[in-house]
Amino acid sequence: MIVVLKPKVTEEQIDTVVKMVAELDYRAHIIRGVERTVVACVGEERGEHQLEHLEALSFVERVMPVLRSFKLAAREVRPEGSVIDVGGVKIGGNKLAIIAGPCAVESREQVEAAADAVKAGGAHLLRGGAFKPRTSPYAFQGMEAEGLALLEKAGKRVGLPVVTEIMDPHDIELFVEHADMLQVGARNAQNFSLLRRLGRTNKPILLKRGMSTRLEEFLMAAEYILSEGNPNVVLCERGIRTFETATRNTLDLNAVPLLKEWTHLPVIVDPSHGTGIWSLVAPMALASIAAGADGLLIEVHPNPSVARSDGPQQLKPERFAELVKAAKPVAAAVGRAL
Ligand code: PEP
Ligand code: MN
Repeated sequence: MIVVLKPKVTEEQIDTVVKMVAELDYRAHIIRGVERTVVACVGEERGEHQLEHLEALSFVERVMPVLRSFKLAAREVRPEGSVIDVGGVKIGGNKLAIIAGPCAVESREQVEAAADAVKAGGAHLLRGGAFKPRTSPYAFQGMEAEGLALLEKAGKRVGLPVVTEIMDPHDIELFVEHADMLQVGARNAQNFSLLRRLGRTNKPILLKRGMSTRLEEFLMAAEYILSEGNPNVVLCERGIRTFETATRNTLDLNAVPLLKEWTHLPVIVDPSHGTGIWSLVAPMALASIAAGADGLLIEVHPNPSVARSDGPQQLKPERFAELVKAAKPVAAAVGRAL
């Protein structure tokens, strides 16, 4: 159930609602929108009719059920959409956000060169994996804590907030200190204990879709983070497994407008993992913007031919710069800015 309060309610009135909701054994999440404050009440669904009595309060506009299984992620609780601030960069507003950088941090020289390249090309955030989730335990696993420090340093030098993947809840403190946004990769998209732990931080989380996660399941994964109190979640469509083997994954662009209908959370697209082929990255990036994405995640490597992971899908710096240039008129055509 959500309790929609009338415009200009006082803090005391919000407090009254929160207390009454708690007395009915529901958890209250206060969601402050531009015009209105909404109190989302989550808990077991029996006894919901008791919440309806809150409508009798003079400062309550209405009490309405959220019919979908995800509650805090539902569009109804924040109709205008969420804007997530990542180290000063906003994801979810009119302006598109571009996250770019190598698949993995491989050396100081490589990450510094990548940082210069993506900054010059027009990225707003720098990415790079330090702890890598590899299919094979014998493959390069990332530079770990050292890689995280190199990424942080490169980001600071060029003035870009950094995004990097976390796999193990034991590393949360390290990541909270050294990264601006924590990525949950496709392989951990339904690692509920990791999601819960991340929900107890207030760091922005970039939640990727699992390779065979349905959209409802994807939003339930986001709900795990939101329900622990962290509202800073950005969703990332990165392709799903299908029968098609010509591309690494099948980029599901249907997901973009559908997620935008269902949820207030920003939605970005990763055409690098979505296709696995560098020449398909730019066209699918443009298509993502046309479909309504709030941003892009693009893998860029100073020299993809020697990359230690995901070489075939990483863009050379000049191709990344061309992509950003080409994206501007597409963004403008759908009423967005870059
Ligand atoms: C990555 O971003 O480098 C990555 C491993 O992505 P995914 O989890 O989408 O495969
Ligand atoms: Mn990668």
